Amino acid sequence: MTDFRTLDAVGDVHGKVALVRVDLNLPMQDGAVTDDTRIKASAPTILELADGGAKVLLLAHFGRPKGARSSVMSLSMVIDAVQDVLGREVMFVPEIYGPVVEQTVGILPPGGIAVLENTRFWPGEEANDPELAKAIAANADLFVNDAFSAAHRAHATTEGLAHVLPAFAGRAMEAELTALQKALGNPERPVAAVVGGAKVSSKLDVLTHLVGQVDHLIIGGGMANTFLAARGVDVGKSLCEHDLAATADQILAAADKAGCTVHLPYDVVVAKEFAANPAGLRTCNVHEVAADEMILDVGPQAVEALADVLKTCRTLVWNGPLGAFETPPFDAATVALAQSAAALTREGALVSVAGGGDTVAALNQAGAAGDFSYISTAGGAFLEWMEGRELPGVKALQR
Ligand code: ADP
Ligand code: MG
Repeated sequence: MTDFRTLDAVGDVHGKVALVRVDLNLPMQDGAVTDDTRIKASAPTILELADGGAKVLLLAHFGRPKGARSSVMSLSMVIDAVQDVLGREVMFVPEIYGPVVEQTVGILPPGGIAVLENTRFWPGEEANDPELAKAIAANADLFVNDAFSAAHRAHATTEGLAHVLPAFAGRAMEAELTALQKALGNPERPVAAVVGGAKVSSKLDVLTHLVGQVDHLIIGGGMANTFLAARGVDVGKSLCEHDLAATADQILAAADKAGCTVHLPYDVVVAKEFAANPAGLRTCNVHEVAADEMILDVGPQAVEALADVLKTCRTLVWNGPLGAFETPPFDAATVALAQSAAALTREGALVSVAGGGDTVAALNQAGAAGDFSYISTAGGAFLEWMEGRELPGVKALQR
């Protein structure tokens, strides 16, 4: 199933130098890390290698310094947070190759951990310059990639290093790939996909890929409006990409041909203004939306029917909220369906995988995230995987 090497195949690492690509692109405020989830994700990999006696050099990018040093994007800022999560002392090295790194390797004891500087300070990182990869690799014995979230980029430390050093997937990468494989690679059927969010245009490739992969495609959010409009429904003032009507029709036709049932809402929650609990808030059939109203959520009857669809499924993959969930009560459909999926997952009836920045926030808001089989925080990489693309960072591990 998984044709990449994991840490199980790494052998004795005592005294060896392991370059570990992690995700330290952390949310910061006033110089302090505000959310250490990404450090926690890679802590098992880092500690496993360190406890095996490896000298661990962490590689990561931060922000978009565009190939030049920038004091406000130095990874020195994350050292305290990394130390807190790992519970170990961690060195900072203001380089990623060359004599300073070599000296660090010399003084690090087996099990020692260092964070190297922001890889994107070097233009060769994003250019995937093989010379940079070789220079970084010169100080190490092996490469471990634990940053699925950066795997959609072919950069020197996400892809290039895998060609010049023995390469392994870290534990977080392994967990992500295993979960994604279970959800779309080789899933138990029937499979349902929920695709929501604001716009069809941002997820065209996702929709196009999924209709050929899943048995039920549940479309919600603003993008449902585009599909409804394409079918001749008057969606009033709703967010809607009228120019994509033909595209929406093509997707519906492709789904039909592939035997994929597309579910669009038949009742919706509408309002005359986009505000919390606005005046004139009402639920109606999709054919009853007035010219001055906008659709802001899927209606309760449709949600009940969708929950029944999930009951017939064995696998669920979810990206995108069903409504404008940040503004109450337009979170109701997302929360209700998330809770149904969570309950089915708890019962062991459903494998549920979700990803996407707003999706993860919405599932947390619903109190459902903890019950999902797997939640991907990978953003862009998760979406590219949902588009059926081969991720270069993953492919490089599959030699
Ligand atoms: P993700 O980050 O999980 O990939 P998206 O960014 O694609 O999700 O979509 C989330 C956004 O879609 C949210 O900001 C939400 O308010 C918006 N949205 C969902 N439904 C609607 C709607 N009916 N009208 C306007 N915006 C909507
Ligand atoms: Mg988003």
